[in-house]
Amino acid sequence: MPIHQVAKITKAEKENELVTTFTFDIGLEGALPGQFLMVWLPGNDEKPYGIAGISPLKISVAARGPFSKKFASLKVGRRVWLRGPYGKGFKLSGKHILLVGGGYGFAPLRFLADEAMKRGIFATAICGARSKGLLMADAKCETILATDDGSAGIKGNVIDAMKSISGQGKFDTIYTCGPERMMAAVAYEAKKAKADCQLLLERYMKCGIGICGHCCMGEKLVCSDGPVFGFEILENPEFCKTFLNKAGKREPL
Ligand SMILES: Cc1cc2nc3c(=O)[nH]c(=O)nc-3n(C[C@H](O)[C@H](O)[C@H](O)COP(=O)(O)OP(=O)(O)OC[C@H]3O[C@@H](n4cnc5c(N)ncnc54)[C@H](O)[C@@H]3O)c2cc1C
Repeated sequence: MPIHQVAKITKAEKENELVTTFTFDIGLEGALPGQFLMVWLPGNDEKPYGIAGISPLKISVAARGPFSKKFASLKVGRRVWLRGPYGKGFKLSGKHILLVGGGYGFAPLRFLADEAMKRGIFATAICGARSKGLLMADAKCETILATDDGSAGIKGNVIDAMKSISGQGKFDTIYTCGPERMMAAVAYEAKKAKADCQLLLERYMKCGIGICGHCCMGEKLVCSDGPVFGFEILENPEFCKTFLNKAGKREPL
């Protein structure tokens, strides 16, 4: 069995000013929202990307640095090498769930919304961004938009959007993915609302399978203990504070 699987790009859709969502010529049945793949571009590097859909496989890429800019610029017909899926995905639980995403962090939550709807779980989503040009496309469930500058949806952040629907009944579980401080604020709101919460974290990763320790946060490895964590991650000494940069040096987050 080869470690890497080759996948060819069949569609490249520009979702907003930063994010391109790729569709590939393979399926990844059984992979869970929240799990990730290591994407290798030969001659460049290998980096983790969340799964945005499985049938066919989709990956959303925000062009931020050298690797992601190269990845996001690939055209239909180009191939990438993938290994995975790795890590622990989101666990669906409850009857009514809330998905809160910031920026490209909304991509795995859209996939989670699809899986929830298949199981008859009622999902509501909040998608936040700095401005309209950075918003991701809606999920298939009801999607509330929030922008910091008010150029689309509610003027404010995802917490303002959560407060705007607080009278609409109780959510059993709140799922969140996006900037770490945003997820921390979402988790504290979840605590107040007596809902469970699952957070999808990011750290630089190299092996992706729990060997190298590059993604460690205190005693936890994001790649193999996560990347989805519960409330316990709020107590982690590195949460919202520090990360290991690509050279392995600890830096403020
Ligand atoms: C589990 C997981 C899932 C991911 N899913 C996606 C996804 O679906 N889509 C996507 O676009 N990206 C995703 N990423 C991020 C992706 O792996 C790359 O880090 C990202 O594309 C930037 O890589 P780069 O080499 O282009 O830029 P880099 O040069 O590595 O970074 C660009 C900028 O981002 C900062 N940065 C990068 N990583 C971190 C970090 N961990 N902590 C703090 N600052 C950081 C750098 O300081 C720099 O300013 C995921 C990461 C993880 C761990």
